Amino acid sequence: MTKRSMTRVFRAVAVVGMSAALLAGPAAAQDARTQIGNAMKTMGSENLNSITFWGVAQNGNFGQNNNANHPWPMANASDYTRSIDFTAPASRATWVNYAVPVTGGAAAQTPGQQNITPQQGTWAQQLEIWTTPWGVLRAAAANNATARSQTVGGRRMTVFSFDAPIKSPGGLPYKVNAFINPQGLVERVETWVENPIFGDMLVESEYTNYRDAYGVMYPANIVVKRGGWPTFQAQLLGITANPADIQARVTPPPPPGRAGGAAPGAAPGGAAPGGARGGGAAPAAAPPAPTAMSEKLADGVWRIGQNPGAGAYNALAVEFADHIVLFEPGPANEARGLAIIAETKRVIPNKPIRYGVISHHHADHTGGIAAPAGEGIVIVTPAVNKTYLERALSNPRTLAPDSFSKSKRKAVVEGFTGDKRVFSDATRTFEIHVVKGLPHADGNVIGYLPKEKILVYADMFNLPNPVGSVPNPPVVGTGVFLDNIERLKLDVDRIMSVHSLNPDRMTTVAEIRASLGRK
Ligand SMILES: [Zn+2]
Repeated sequence: MTKRSMTRVFRAVAVVGMSAALLAGPAAAQDARTQIGNAMKTMGSENLNSITFWGVAQNGNFGQNNNANHPWPMANASDYTRSIDFTAPASRATWVNYAVPVTGGAAAQTPGQQNITPQQGTWAQQLEIWTTPWGVLRAAAANNATARSQTVGGRRMTVFSFDAPIKSPGGLPYKVNAFINPQGLVERVETWVENPIFGDMLVESEYTNYRDAYGVMYPANIVVKRGGWPTFQAQLLGITANPADIQARVTPPPPPGRAGGAAPGAAPGGAAPGGARGGGAAPAAAPPAPTAMSEKLADGVWRIGQNPGAGAYNALAVEFADHIVLFEPGPANEARGLAIIAETKRVIPNKPIRYGVISHHHADHTGGIAAPAGEGIVIVTPAVNKTYLERALSNPRTLAPDSFSKSKRKAVVEGFTGDKRVFSDATRTFEIHVVKGLPHADGNVIGYLPKEKILVYADMFNLPNPVGSVPNPPVVGTGVFLDNIERLKLDVDRIMSVHSLNPDRMTTVAEIRASLGRK
């Protein structure tokens, strides 16, 4: 979905919601209740307190597309089963992934799961229950939904609108719209949830090709989109209504030593903000609060690091005569971005941070982009990423106001064309080069200080194997990184990784070569 149409949908819904509320009197409320009851009858869900559904599914890796203008990458989720207890409410989904590990090598099966307990009150989790075709009608009835008619694509739809009984971090209710098609079936559900990159992010679920299971209707096809692209899709093969053992089905197993958690430093990308229905990593325990730790690499050149265990993202601050350029100004989350900015101002006082060069558009490298955008820092990135970032940063941010929305600024994204962007004045030169031939992401850049012989990069060499055996096959991204250093004839002494290496250190071309088994 384009930026414009996404914004238009949001505005249209906001306006309609307001007028519906103004018109809704007792008669209208009675009418809405009747219509919701009718929809439940058609769906066969009046007596549905729990459900299990199963099929083949795919989870999208939100925020981690290989090109900023392409859909999220989808991973197979075979043997997908989800059970929902609407009365608790609770839900548990399980599936099996089959994919090549990020470190390369043969594809492997890994089990996946998502557990939502009654205690998990965030809308990002609860919406997995209340935006299902059966859950949304139950929630509409419980939350005084209004009803209206709307023609969509030439078809007359009934739209139930209500506020979920959960407040956003900014104190606003979460809005839900359920579209009932002329056959009386739930065809589309919309809601919005806060996201650090996309602001008030539309979550749209489409339910089509309904089938009948002993009177309970279920969609054979489900597509859920976040940020305009699918984060979950499924072909349902069947359902069980009110399974007798629902309690067991929604109870998470005891944690067997944190199964499924990524090994530290293993996966560049990690858990993406926003998540996917049943996908992505489960939200981990809150990391320790980030505190910046800086290290002077050369005169006017600082590594803005982080306390161990807090996520470990590094930025590079480069001082010019009358301003500062930051490489990776908003990784991880807003707190991290704010800490980077504060520490940069401390070590290089009295100069504005004018430019922030992001290594690439992935969610873990832009999750804190609200901080530089709110500071009025120009976001510099290859042109391929410009539309994506402008679209994200032009959404309303009302559900969870952040430093960007509070600043009332308009984001400035400089999308440079060509293979490089050079920052230069009488004091120094900082070259930004676009990495060529990298499968991980188009528009990934490295920063190079020719005088100081310092290079900064993200995601191409993350492996904790300084002297270990060479992976077989060697990691593709690392090979591409070395090829680009050689192609550009960069004379490099020290290399800084945005993700802290394990053990934490600056690396060298020799170490990267060795990791590839090259002499
Ligand atoms: Zn990445």
